[in-house]
Formats: sequence, C-alpha cells, structure tokens
Amino acid sequence: MTESYDDWELATRAIRAGHHRTAEGEHSEPIFTTSSFVFQSAAEAAARFGGDEPGNIYSRFTNPTVACFEERLAALEGGQSCVATSSGMAAILATCMALLKSGDHIVSSRSIFGTTNVLFNKFLAKVGIETSYVSLSNLSDWEAAIRPETRILYAETPSNPITEVGDIRALADLAHARGLLLVVDNCFCTPALQQPLALGADIVIHSATKYLDGQGRCVGGAVVGDSQLVGEEVFGFLRSAGVTMSPFNAWVFLKGLETLQLRMKAHSENALALALWLEQLDAVERVHYPGLKSHPQYDLAMRQQKSAGGIVSFVVKGGREQAWKVIDATRMLSITANLGDTKTTITHPASTTHGRLTDDEKAAAGIEEGLIRVAVGLEAYEDIQRDLASGLVG
Ligand SMILES: *Cc1c(COP(=O)(O)O)cnc(C)c1O
Repeated sequence: MTESYDDWELATRAIRAGHHRTAEGEHSEPIFTTSSFVFQSAAEAAARFGGDEPGNIYSRFTNPTVACFEERLAALEGGQSCVATSSGMAAILATCMALLKSGDHIVSSRSIFGTTNVLFNKFLAKVGIETSYVSLSNLSDWEAAIRPETRILYAETPSNPITEVGDIRALADLAHARGLLLVVDNCFCTPALQQPLALGADIVIHSATKYLDGQGRCVGGAVVGDSQLVGEEVFGFLRSAGVTMSPFNAWVFLKGLETLQLRMKAHSENALALALWLEQLDAVERVHYPGLKSHPQYDLAMRQQKSAGGIVSFVVKGGREQAWKVIDATRMLSITANLGDTKTTITHPASTTHGRLTDDEKAAAGIEEGLIRVAVGLEAYEDIQRDLASGLVG
C-alpha cells in the first residue's frame, strides 16, 4: 500500500484512507468509469506492460476507485495489501486458486457460509483439493484433522447461524506451528469489531455485500493480507481470471465504510437488547448470541471482539411449525436470508440456507427445526421487538 495510516484511529481511516485527490480538487471520491488507460508514449506503455513502472493499464487489473476501496479496507484490517473482487465468493475462490494446487488439503470449520461449502466440496474437490470439516471451537479437532498435505486452516467466526466463536489467536498459533496459513472470513464482525490479522491470521476474506456496504445495494468482496500472498499471488489470479470489482460498486462500498463503525455499534446494541429480551420469553427454548453470558464462548468473544455483532438466533418451542408461525406473524421484518443490512431480516435456516444438509449435518451444525435467525438492523429497537413479539408473546 502506498501510505501508512498508523497515526489514525479506525474511524478516521474508514473515512479518509485511500483517497488520493486528483488535480480537480474533488472532496468526495470520484468514480473512474473507464475500462482502459492511455500512456504518454510508446515507451511508457512498454514500461507499464513490462512491470517496470507502476500505473494503470486496464480496469480488470487496477482502477483508481477500486484501488481507493482496497487501500481503505487494508488500512482498516491492518494489512499490507487488499484485492477487491466481484463478490465474497470470488474472494474465496481467488484465495484458494492462488495459494493451493491439486493434492492440497484444507481444514475448515464446519459451520461456514453454505456456498463456501459448495465451492470446497464440489469445485475445489474436482481439481483435487480436499476439505475436512471440524468444530470451530474445538482446537484438538483442528489439530487432529491436519495432514501432511494440509495448506490452509479456514475459519468463519462467529459462525452462521448459531454464532459459535473460534479462538483466532489459538488457530493462528496452531497454523504457524505446522507451517500453514490461517484464513478468516471476517464478514460477520468486519474490522470495526474484530481484526483477525492483528490476532495472527494470515488472510482475511470479506463479502463486502454484507456489512461493508451495509445497505443491501451491491455485491462485492475482498481479500486482505501481506504484499506477497495477497498483493502478488491473489492479485495475480484476479488479473488473469477477471473476478474484478466494478468501480461503481467500489464507490458504494467506500461510502459504506465511512459509517462502518457507527453502524456496527448500533447493530450490536439492537442485537444485544433483542437477545436479552428473547432469553426471558417462555416461548423461547434458547438464544445464541455471543454477547449473552449464557453463550459458551462469551469470555472469548468479549476478548476477541469489540462487541457481539448483529446476528442473533434462537430456538422456539414447537419446532418448524412454530418457527414458521413466528416468521409469518411479522409485518415489518424482511423474510430473506440476506444479512448486514440496515433492514432487519428473519429466516428459518433448516428449510432455506441449510435446507440441503442431511439430518446428521444439521445436528452437527446446531440447525434445529425451531431455529430462527435474525440479522438485526438499524430500525428503532422498539419496532423490531414489537414485530417479533406478535408471534412470540400472548
Ligand atoms: C455472503 C457471504 C459470503 C459470500 O459473499 P457473496 O458476496 O454473496 O459472494 C461469504 N461468507 C459469508 C460469511 C457470507 O455471509
């Protein structure tokens, strides 16, 4: 990255990092909607193509608006390099394709984003890269699954939808003792709540689609890490494979980042209030939220994260039938599997996002029939609670 932002607090980096003002003196970051760039001379073109001189060539490789987003997110995560991608899945694909080869092996936490599962089990398996799944919070499980061919430990914490929390520092120590890389999907927390690189992780993955945008407008992703792994290797895959972020989407994400800290704080406050309320209802069997003292990794979560985040899930008495009733009784909440939006969303994992799992897989992932996931938004807390109460109280 071109500048050091060490002197700036996170909130300042989120607003100012990465913008190199042009000669026009613009205050807000400009959108460079251009596919290619021109050179002063044939010699300059040759130097750029030859890699002897830095600078833009073509927007599949680099674009100033995308670069501004990359520099800002790198500053927030505390990484040397960031590569922006067309989606969160593209970020995971680019990381795996850049750093793994046929015959390599991944150890991954079991409760990861469903499509990540499909990518690992169907497509990486097809090119000879195998994945073993372990319990996120059980370190000896991770250790036992490591083979001579293992290259990557892959974790998502807190997990979706039951918010299990993994110990990033312990996983990083384990990875490094065995010469492996720790990759952490930081989608649920964002750098506003948790910075995996500072805890020892080697690579951070983002679906910018979620909290980085925060307002449900664009699909995008990013990979953050050091200048070799990410700046050279992941970037090398991206420029050839073309899973590039568009300048317009980068601009939307830049604007999202400016309010990231405020939003994550507000998501966490609403979610904690909701979790505390749910926990004392007769209709509710159990609540999963890392900010509750009843959460099995409460101490770890409070040490590792600034706050507990916006995702709350809970099990209602009466299984699927009652869970569907509670969901259908809401009037304001959006019935959708998306998360990381200002709008609160509600979903039944067992019949949607996790519907393809076998009964055994559901049991291992804690996906009970009565489980409901709420991605708590930024509406007034009273309105969120009242809407959920219609199916839960009285
Ligand atoms: C949504 C999501 C992804 C995938 O991101 P897309 O932008 O939808 O491709 C990956 N990981 C997690 C945790 C997610 O929630």
